[in-house]
Amino acid sequence: MSLRALLIERILQDGPLSLADYMAECLLHPVHGYYTTRDPLGAAGDFTTAPEISQMFGELIGLALAQAWLDQGRPAPFTLVELGPGRGTLMADLLRATRAVPGFHDAARIALVEASPALRKMQAETLTGHAPSWLDRVDDLPNQPLLLVANEFFDALPIRQFIRDGDLWRERLVGLENGKLDFGLGAATPQAALDHRLADTRDGDLVELCAPAQTVTTELARRIAAHGGAGLIVDYGDWRSLGDTFQALHRHEMADPLASPGKADLTAHVDFEALALTAKNAGCAHTKLTPQGIFLERLGITARAQALVRGRTDKEAESIIHAHRRLTHPEEMGNLFKVLGLFPAPAPPPPGLEP
Ligand code: SAH
Repeated sequence: MSLRALLIERILQDGPLSLADYMAECLLHPVHGYYTTRDPLGAAGDFTTAPEISQMFGELIGLALAQAWLDQGRPAPFTLVELGPGRGTLMADLLRATRAVPGFHDAARIALVEASPALRKMQAETLTGHAPSWLDRVDDLPNQPLLLVANEFFDALPIRQFIRDGDLWRERLVGLENGKLDFGLGAATPQAALDHRLADTRDGDLVELCAPAQTVTTELARRIAAHGGAGLIVDYGDWRSLGDTFQALHRHEMADPLASPGKADLTAHVDFEALALTAKNAGCAHTKLTPQGIFLERLGITARAQALVRGRTDKEAESIIHAHRRLTHPEEMGNLFKVLGLFPAPAPPPPGLEP
C-alpha cells in the first residue's frame, strides 16, 4: 500500500490531519518516509545543502565552535553534536578543520541526532574512525557542555498552520475532496500558543507554529545554560514568520506538497524569534539573527577560498569561486539562510555573530 493510500484510509477513519501529522508521516514514516528511505541530497536528489556545496562551510563552522570552546576554557569532556547530519559531510569537514586545535578532538564525544536509518548508514561511512554515537532525540543528549550545529534541520520539523478568525484561529488541515488529498480548515478555536500573535496579525492572516522546534530548543538551551558550550542554528527563515511557507521540493523544483506523499521533501521556514524566545526562557543567551553570507565572511571564507585556489587549475579555481558565491552572495544562499547562535550568558557569543 502506498503512503497516499495509507493517509487516505487514516483520514476516512479519524478525520482530517493537522499539517504536522501529515508532514511527520511524509518525512519519517518507517516504510514510506522521505528521509527514512533515501538520500535526498546532491545533484541526483531533490536539494543541495551548504556542506554539499563546499568543504569551506563545515570547516568554518568547526573553527567557530572550536573558538567558543577555547573562549570557555576548554571544557572536557564535551558533546560535539549535530542535528540531522545528512550525509555526514559537515561533521567530516568540521573534524578535519579542528584537528589542529590542541585537545579539541580528545575532549569531544561526537553525537549525531538522526531519525533516518538510511542516512545513519551514510554518516557511519563518512565518519569512519571517529566513533560517533547516534541518538533518536535531543532529550537523550548527556548533561554536558554542548557544541552544536544544526544545518537545515529545523525546517524539516512538522509545523501546524492557523488562520486568524477574529480573536480565534482556524487550523489548516489535510482532508479529502472527491477522494483526493486537499487542504481544508478546522473550526475556529482559541489557541493559547498564539496569543502573542494577536498583536501583529489581522483577520485572515496565516501563522505557523512548530512545537517540536520549541521542545528541541528548550533541551539544547537548558544544557548550554547549565553546562556551557554553544549552538549554531543555520536555516532559511526570518525573525518572525508570517504567511504560508509550507513547501515541497522534488528534483530541485518546487512541487505541490500534497501531490506525492513521501516522495518530495517537505519544509517550512524557521521562525527564529520563536527559537530565540524559547532559548531565553530556558536561561540561555542568543545572538542576533545574522545572514549566512555575513557570518561566513566574518569567519574568513574569502581567505579560505583564496588558500584553496592556490596551485589549482583554472577549472578547479572556478568551482571554488562559484561555491564561495553560492554560499555568501545575497542573491544566492547568503541572505535567504540565517544563523542564530546560542551561548551561556557570561561567555562571549560564538565568533561571527553579535550578542
Ligand atoms: N544537515 C544536513 C542534512 C539536512 S536534511 C546538510 O546540511 O546537508 C535534514 C536532516 O535532518 C536529515 O539528515 C534528516 O534525516 C534529519 N531529520 C529530519 N527530521 C528529523 C527528526 N525529527 N529527528 C532527527 N533527524 C531528523
